[in-house]
Amino acid sequence: MLLDSEPPPFASFSELERDALACRKCALAPGRTQVVFGVGDPSADLLFVGEGPGEQEDIQGIPFVGRAGQLLTRLIEGIGLARDDVYIANVVKCRPPGNRDPHPDEIASCRPYLEAQIDLIDPAVVVTLGNFATKLLLGTTEGITRLRGRSYPYRRGVLIPTFHPAAVLRGAGDAQAQMRADLVRAKQHLAGVRA
Ligand code: URA
Repeated sequence: MLLDSEPPPFASFSELERDALACRKCALAPGRTQVVFGVGDPSADLLFVGEGPGEQEDIQGIPFVGRAGQLLTRLIEGIGLARDDVYIANVVKCRPPGNRDPHPDEIASCRPYLEAQIDLIDPAVVVTLGNFATKLLLGTTEGITRLRGRSYPYRRGVLIPTFHPAAVLRGAGDAQAQMRADLVRAKQHLAGVRA
């Protein structure tokens, strides 16, 4: 947390993005096609945080454009919003090779960018998609299956953990219905903020 007397590390969203796009702080930099900084409205009330870019995201430079992204887009539209109404970012901004899990040192190197995005967007609701984003932002080792289904106080608003859409695509049972219910919860929080 910043003290009032500390200047923010980045004066604006565009300065932050410029810095991130030039980043070479971790081992993911040499293998990336491009940095996938984030997409959407930088003053959105609702922020989604995923894990890291996959193949399509690395090629296009936009988060959540592959199959999992298409599901996320449909679920966002299912609560009456468009991708342009929200902001979508990831824990790591560069694609881990072969879509492996990001390593702890890579997550630590990239964390200041995500924290600065959250500082500058200042969303009322953060929805974390899957274990990596949820564990990082809630500071817990508890898994997503136990954590989801409720909201947690987070900064000036709430954090709502849900499944990663890629896990929903792979998964059986009612994971998609549960994810839909988590997004309805997010929408209800937003309605409270806007009321
Ligand atoms: N999975 C993620 O976590 N993020 C993306 O941008 C795409 C797939």
